[in-house]
Amino acid sequence: MTAVPVREQPLSALLAAADATRIERELGITTLGDLLDYYPRRYIERGALAPIAELVPGVDASVIGTVVDFRKRRMHQRRGTLYELKVADDPDAAGARVSVVFFNNRAVERLVTGTRLLLSGVPTVRQDGLTLSHPDYEILAPESDDPGVDLRPTPIYGATKTMASDWIRKQIGRLLDDGVLEGLADPLPPESQAAERLLPLRQAYRSIHRPDTLQEAYRAQHRFKYQEAFLLQTVLATRRAAHEALPAVPRPPRSDGVLSAFDAALPFTLTAGQLAAGAEISADLASTSPMNRLLQGEVGSGKTVVALRAILQTVDAGAQAAFLAPTEVLAEQHFRSIRAALGPLGEGGTLTAAEHAIRVDLLTGSTPQASKKRTLLGLASGEVDLVVGTHALLSENVGFVELGMVVVDEQHRFGVEQRDVLRQRAATTPHTLIMTATPIPRTIAMTSFGDLAVSTLTELPRGRQPIRTHVSSLEAHPAWETRLWERAREEIAAGRQVFVVCPLIGGAADRNGGGKARAGSSAGADEGPQPTSAEALTEQLVNEPSLREAVISILHGGLPSDVKDQTMTAFARGEIDLLVSTTVVEVGVDVPNATLMIIMDADRFGVAQLHQLRGRVGRGAHGGTCILVTRLAEDHPSTGRLFKVASTTDGLELSEYDVDTRKEGDILGASQSGGASSLKLLRVTRDQKVIARARDAAFDVIRRDPGLEGYPTLRHIISTMDEDSKAFLERA
Ligand code: ADP
Ligand code: MG
Repeated sequence: MTAVPVREQPLSALLAAADATRIERELGITTLGDLLDYYPRRYIERGALAPIAELVPGVDASVIGTVVDFRKRRMHQRRGTLYELKVADDPDAAGARVSVVFFNNRAVERLVTGTRLLLSGVPTVRQDGLTLSHPDYEILAPESDDPGVDLRPTPIYGATKTMASDWIRKQIGRLLDDGVLEGLADPLPPESQAAERLLPLRQAYRSIHRPDTLQEAYRAQHRFKYQEAFLLQTVLATRRAAHEALPAVPRPPRSDGVLSAFDAALPFTLTAGQLAAGAEISADLASTSPMNRLLQGEVGSGKTVVALRAILQTVDAGAQAAFLAPTEVLAEQHFRSIRAALGPLGEGGTLTAAEHAIRVDLLTGSTPQASKKRTLLGLASGEVDLVVGTHALLSENVGFVELGMVVVDEQHRFGVEQRDVLRQRAATTPHTLIMTATPIPRTIAMTSFGDLAVSTLTELPRGRQPIRTHVSSLEAHPAWETRLWERAREEIAAGRQVFVVCPLIGGAADRNGGGKARAGSSAGADEGPQPTSAEALTEQLVNEPSLREAVISILHGGLPSDVKDQTMTAFARGEIDLLVSTTVVEVGVDVPNATLMIIMDADRFGVAQLHQLRGRVGRGAHGGTCILVTRLAEDHPSTGRLFKVASTTDGLELSEYDVDTRKEGDILGASQSGGASSLKLLRVTRDQKVIARARDAAFDVIRRDPGLEGYPTLRHIISTMDEDSKAFLERA
């Protein structure tokens, strides 16, 4: 039996029972380690204090003052209690004062007249004059009146409505005085500490909670930041090692199968990038450990061909493959384009099939019962070589004879959804290839995708013309709307075709009806004008004078499959001039004659999605134009995104922008934005260098000592972390 590690000692054994209970109730923290990791949010430096008279609206500042007035009021409209304080530099003279307000915060009831306070926050101008709303505060003992007495920075902790920062500080201070740090084991390997010149663990805890100088506090923060990165990367390294240790059936290439027949019939030559990615994937497939690879490349960079060639290699080796798309429409589109690319080689299972031809089936929620049954039988008997379907395929009762490879099309999400589920369907772990059209910023590649190998297609196939993108602000220039439709007519008159994309299918009732941009990507979607619906706009355009002669049609996810099919085919054949649609055109429609895309209420879409959408035009020899239409004011925060998209066609630059402007919690998943074991100091967007160094060190440790035998403290922490980091890595 081993003793309880120091970190895991219950607070109830170290503090007064009532205090431990209070900490548990307010912060959800029960152990010493978690309380020590409740780092101060900020430090206030007495030396940097401003007199109240010099406070500036909008500028973060700290002041010392005395409460000269304290009022408590019940609010009726916004039920609750309002606390209004006046704080003055000098309680006796008629000096400068600042108003301080708190709402529903019982902890401030102690701040009665005469209390001396250290306040910190951003002042605003209210009817009462300069006001600090919910500032951070510390109660000062009267003897610290003289700011010269204690010049050490004051740590400020995240407080709650009934628990003030200074109370938390006192509890932690008490623990430090009691010597709880003795015997606390350091999870970082000594060699990393030395190489990074990090503060030793115990000193770092003292310095972060009770620094003598700000520099010392920052050094301690740096140490814990590195530690967070290191632990995360150790989890990733462990997972990668565990995955590599799983047995997989090698699927080496054959020179006389369907792959070589396909290559011989390819109407174009593969780009250097496609060949390089193809070679990496081919080698992975031939290996005895399962492939776990990400294939990234812009829309139109030719990922599908690369994935298809890998599938054909797998089929040549006698196994089956599954191709998963995030939505039904996308699955159908992939199915169609894969069938088209294969030509006669995809007609396996029919009487007239070519030699080596493979059988490809589609399986989604709306596949009719009879053909679903045929496909399931075909998969179970091995007659179906490739099944294309939605992630929902996973929940069906699908049995493969020999599943050799899974391709997951992630499109513009960074998520790693459900990919393990299908893997579990196979007797041995299948090889997995994940495709994404959104270039993954390095930070994300090192964290959310940190256990994957990566191949990148950087060049577009030859003959692609760059896309010109403009922002059209109808708020500033309402007359431009007519101009938009004239522009569409010019394009049509020149023999080309036009996409018009809308955020909604029909009325507001359809908001979640599949055509709506993903809610998460449309910041501020709840304000602003009612979004344009595809149905309403189609009606309007049919009556638009400049478009009288155009053939106009509509396409959205709510239509029956056969109608969608017919419309898509008619558009591809040039029988439709202008197609009003929802985001169903995002992927897979390859219509080289389409040269203009007009995106209505473009502010409702995310950066990655806009970039993806515009990739639908300019696929032929004529180049393309994309117009991002918005009815928001030009200075609305969401329009910044549109100008960014218009300014560059570099997908990586756009996804970095996207990541930088999103909140950390959105990137890491909700479960990581709070809670006792989340990332606290590390910011994946800002701390790339720390993450990269920690990654090298962690992967090195796991390479040398996969079981962490020589690192018991590290091993223990990793084992308790793995569940949380799983949530972290497979972001909601
Ligand atoms: P992605 O899946 O990356 O968006 P696709 O694989 O769908 O791109 O390719 C887009 C289009 O470009 C398809 O019509 C495909 O046939 C074509 N294509 C792919 N590779 C090449 C190439 N090397 N040369 C010319 N055309 C190509
Ligand atoms: Mg594609």
